[in-house]
Amino acid sequence: MERLGRFEHNRWVGDKRSQVVHDVDNCSAEDTLAELVSAETYICFGPDTLAEARNRGYKRCAQCPGARDAARSEAEAVAASS
Ligand SMILES: [Zn+2]
Repeated sequence: MERLGRFEHNRWVGDKRSQVVHDVDNCSAEDTLAELVSAETYICFGPDTLAEARNRGYKRCAQCPGARDAARSEAEAVAASS
C-alpha cells in the first residue's frame, strides 16, 4: 500500500490515545490511519523502528489484517531460523 503523504518518511506511527503503533507499510486499515491523522494524535519515532516504539511503551497494532499477516510471517521467519 502507498504510504500516506504525511508518513512518507516513517514506517512506524503511534497513536497517543491507545499507545498502539501502526506499521504504515503493512497496516491495511487506511481509515484508521486517516482518522489518526485527522485527530492529530499520532507520534513518529526516532529512530523509526519497532524497538524504539516499544521502548516508549507502544504496542504493535494487532487490528489491521495486513499488520497481523506481517507479524505472523515475521514470527514464522524467526521460528524457522531458530
Ligand atoms: Zn494498524
